[in-house]
Amino acid sequence: MSKTRYAALIVAAGRGERAGSQQPKQFRTLAGKPVIVWSVERFLSDPNCEAILIAHSPGACEQIRAVLGTHGDSVHLYEGGQTRSQSVEALLAHCQSERVLVHDAARPLLSQRLIDDLVTALADSDGATPALPVIDALVREEQAGLAPVDRSALYRVQTPQGFETSKLKAAFASHGSPDFPDEVSLARAAGLSVKLVPGEESNLKLTWPEDFERAERMIEDMAGEHRRASRQSVTGMGYDVHRMAPGDGMHLCGVFIDCPFQLVGHSDADVGLHTITDALLGATGLGDIGDHFPPSDDQWKGADSALFLDHARKLAEATGAQIIHVDVTLICERPKIGPHKAAMKHRVGELLGLAGDRVNIKATTTEKLGFTGRGEGIAAEAVITVSIPG
Ligand code: MG
Repeated sequence: MSKTRYAALIVAAGRGERAGSQQPKQFRTLAGKPVIVWSVERFLSDPNCEAILIAHSPGACEQIRAVLGTHGDSVHLYEGGQTRSQSVEALLAHCQSERVLVHDAARPLLSQRLIDDLVTALADSDGATPALPVIDALVREEQAGLAPVDRSALYRVQTPQGFETSKLKAAFASHGSPDFPDEVSLARAAGLSVKLVPGEESNLKLTWPEDFERAERMIEDMAGEHRRASRQSVTGMGYDVHRMAPGDGMHLCGVFIDCPFQLVGHSDADVGLHTITDALLGATGLGDIGDHFPPSDDQWKGADSALFLDHARKLAEATGAQIIHVDVTLICERPKIGPHKAAMKHRVGELLGLAGDRVNIKATTTEKLGFTGRGEGIAAEAVITVSIPG
């Protein structure tokens, strides 16, 4: 356990004039939350993070406390220095943990994956940093004109940057007097080993006004992905039987079949649609068709069973459910189902809002065995797949 514990040192002492606001960028609001709070919450939610130390600019203690709100009680605030290096050194002086992750408050969208990769990399390296390859072609402006630069060995370095605390402290003690752009530069100057772990485009540094818009779009996308990922697929099954008698036709799966039989029931006795209705109510935990349309209720006498299915669909969709697929089996010797399958598929698809390839209608006989074999009734089974919010 102790091998993975670390302290987060967050540098929030910058004034950030480039982001185009009077307020330092780490205090500005990003998707409803102050920028710095995004990182603080990330570290607070990681059980391996044993302390969060924040460096603020001189005189900004009250301001940062106000921005942090209730999180202020979970972090340690210290006054930073004139430079980034001075601020990090000030935090290190108060740090008791064996490992540190030094992070810029202006990178709000770091992921847990990134933190885990850095901590893992520290097992056999003095330091570790996220890095991304350079994608754009690079040139250097020289007196003779533009000279191409080989980008294959170049990386864009991000934060958090992880270190063994004692080694980073020693690096500051021996090399810390100039201001380094980041701790990796200092670590390399002091001869420490630094491992690269894959960085993340979403872990962007808010620098310009348009970076805030980009980060807000990313947060929206991540929230959408989270919503999609947290959905669950559930299954409902239905089974129904209706008695068959001599007559002049019947409704099956919403299609009228002209034949010398009829189905007997309180409504139009469409055993196919009843079965699908029950399957859908089952998948969404809404009981069964009898709960919603009791046979004792006269208003359903002779009713078109499409009403039942339509009502069940509305109830299911009101819970956030999304119907994905339905498979129906009609069990009878007569009438022949084959000639009507295409029309049934179309009608069921229409009632459930499903494309044709998400609806399957099957038919089988029972080899003249049992009540279906003797033509006393028709049975139907349905299995429906539904996506519900997790
Ligand atoms: Mg029924």
